[in-house]
Amino acid sequence: MAEDYDKLEKLGEGTYGVVYKARDKKTGKIVALKKIRLEEEEEGIPPTSIREISLLKEATKNNNIVKLLDIVNQERKLCLVFELLKMDLKKFMKGLPPEGMDSFTMQKFMYQLLDGTLFLHMHRIFHRDLKPQNLLIDEHGDLKLADFGLARAVGVPMRPYTHEVVTLWYRAPEILLGSRAYSFTIDMWSIGCIFAEMSLLKPIFAGDSEIDELYTIFKVLGTPNEKVWPDILTLPDYKPNFPQWRPRLLCDSVPKMEPLAIDLLSKMLTYDPAYRISAKRARAHPYFNTYVSRVSRL
Ligand code: ADP
Ligand code: MG
Repeated sequence: MAEDYDKLEKLGEGTYGVVYKARDKKTGKIVALKKIRLEEEEEGIPPTSIREISLLKEATKNNNIVKLLDIVNQERKLCLVFELLKMDLKKFMKGLPPEGMDSFTMQKFMYQLLDGTLFLHMHRIFHRDLKPQNLLIDEHGDLKLADFGLARAVGVPMRPYTHEVVTLWYRAPEILLGSRAYSFTIDMWSIGCIFAEMSLLKPIFAGDSEIDELYTIFKVLGTPNEKVWPDILTLPDYKPNFPQWRPRLLCDSVPKMEPLAIDLLSKMLTYDPAYRISAKRARAHPYFNTYVSRVSRL
């Protein structure tokens, strides 16, 4: 019941509605309450959506995924109750000094991001909207994935709840080229973009329209062709007469990254989804060796 929670201040807003800090009246526990705004409010939430959302509860039983504590469905409104975290990665990066993120924190965040993503992928869920605002950081400085699964459960709204435009900066090239058969690999592209951003403290591919987003990617990675990505010819929005850019060295785009990090990044920002690295293989990449040995000593 929604009356079971006292609404405190607003925490943020995004694609589906407003997120409030709230107190569970019975237990006194402070939680995050997400009110979902639905496109067809009059009709209420279809039972299939409720079933999908119930499945999400299972999928949040991982240390690197924000826990879904409760689902409140009443008077045709839907509220999801989550554990409360301190802040999102976007805010965290904004608060960093100009030197940026230290390499241990970057390794830790990337490892935890991959761990949570791998858990989702093993449950046959893909996040679809990985970006810094959807990654939350708790009081111990651990990163957890938030805000997934709603796309499949209730559909993607045309415009987010806020008047902000849906961001394209983390969108995989196969989606930008009109593919509808995309898969888990789209999350790996987004993770690559987030990785680069942790180093740059600004998005690596900040396009302002779908075509501008593609060209921004092309200018760094080179215009893709059937040599690097054989299936590209079958994608609806691929044009053989796209402007041609030569690939640049990735280390010029992310100058502060160490060689092992660049190697992992290049495997994430691989055009052909068939060759893009999986969450499992990425988590086992040598970039994490020093992190894993340091953590296992703690
Ligand atoms: P939307 O689907 O509307 O994008 P999100 O779940 O991404 O909703 O939440 C929007 C914002 O609210 C997040 O970017 C974050 O800043 C804040 N937020 C969401 N969930 C929590 C939480 N569990 N703890 C703390 N802040 C949260
Ligand atoms: Mg969000």
